[in-house]
Amino acid sequence: MFTVIKSASTGIGPRLGRLALPGKKVVHTPHYLGITSRGVIPHITQDTFARDASITGVYVGLEDFIERAPYQTPPLYQFKPPKDSSPLRRFIALPEDTLLVLGARRAPPVAAPAANPNTNETVSVCTAVGFRVLRADDYAEAAERLQADIVVGLGDIPYGRKLGNKRIEKATERNIKWTQDHINLRHSAETRAQQAKLFAPLLPVSSAKQRFYIETLIQVSERDVAGLAVYALDSLEDLPEALQPLPRLGFTTPSAPQDVLQHIVLGIDVLTVPFINAATDAGIALSFQFPSTSCDQSHNGSDPLPLGIDMWSPAHAVDLGPLVDGCTCYACANHHRAYIQHLLAAKEMLGWVLLQLHNHHVTDIFFAHIRASIANGTFTDDVEHFQRKYESRLPEKTGQGPRVRGYQFKAEGPGEPKKNKAPFTMLDDGQEKIVESAPPEAGTDASELEAQGFAAKA
Ligand SMILES: [Zn+2]
Repeated sequence: MFTVIKSASTGIGPRLGRLALPGKKVVHTPHYLGITSRGVIPHITQDTFARDASITGVYVGLEDFIERAPYQTPPLYQFKPPKDSSPLRRFIALPEDTLLVLGARRAPPVAAPAANPNTNETVSVCTAVGFRVLRADDYAEAAERLQADIVVGLGDIPYGRKLGNKRIEKATERNIKWTQDHINLRHSAETRAQQAKLFAPLLPVSSAKQRFYIETLIQVSERDVAGLAVYALDSLEDLPEALQPLPRLGFTTPSAPQDVLQHIVLGIDVLTVPFINAATDAGIALSFQFPSTSCDQSHNGSDPLPLGIDMWSPAHAVDLGPLVDGCTCYACANHHRAYIQHLLAAKEMLGWVLLQLHNHHVTDIFFAHIRASIANGTFTDDVEHFQRKYESRLPEKTGQGPRVRGYQFKAEGPGEPKKNKAPFTMLDDGQEKIVESAPPEAGTDASELEAQGFAAKA
């Protein structure tokens, strides 16, 4: 399934690979997965995804679909597609050849409040109606039934918190048990032909600190574990050789392209990159390019270039150029900056659609150039050059994004105030008029009603 094409000369480092699953587009690594929200890449409908984007794989969090569980059966579980097709893929209308990766939580997830800790049998997940518990055995069963291409096993990952020594011990035990139970469930399945590849979650600590779990993984890796899910770069530093051939899927939340490069330097093969969606929501068109031998090495100026362009700025109001010169994405090929600036200012949804297509395209090219650079053996120099050439952070957001949802906030526990202003409110005198007007009696005839006026009583 995964072949390493070129690896670092010593230990763990940047490497080229090829992730090939039957019937799916081959993912040349390093690469990234598009991050979905409730089954879609935000702002991109399924037809646009198939026609105008070239995203090779997506990541889906199960917590987006299971707010009714366990008391009611969620619609995703009730959905029965024709035989042999993946219920999850059909439910979210993902093209057949796009790699589908399923995990329990979104990327990046909202950290659970201290009042909702994980237990020996459950993890806390954030659904559309708040935090719920997801049982490890329910997750394993659902993950097998939904037939994604890759399933990230459930891990006791303490998002947003440090693990103390006691807690590491407990988390190690839980990971061993959950992984083994999941593997046993897979062995008992009737058909193994369509089974997803299982990626085992590493705890966000060094391999030495979770060594009993690592030893378990080494025992089962040949047959039952096809890859690793990495939540902190610490766990790669001393990763034993036996696990090194496995592909590494990163949930390491890079916040800028420089972090992406750093995580590739430290050995991540496939990344989830949350700043693409965040930049789009903020109205920012990404504009960075990784230098490969085929393109510029010319920037020697003292001022670093911005990583993105704030499209809210009125400076673009009469600019008929593309978002980025030479960009071949759908947005740049068909529209100009002035139009996109207008769409954002008018809060037209199409503005974010175009930005999202452009931002994913820029990221596609970025990763393609990274792979070319590793193949050419110039990666270290190119990374250095990139760091000199660009600012270290994405531009600040100035305009308003689309309406934010619960899963985009940090949880602060019960009784937190509403964070979204209602988009439409009643003006004061409108409210007064309603108080003044008594509802008409049941026996009122038409002429009286007409005299009184209906909704427009003044
Ligand atoms: Zn573009």
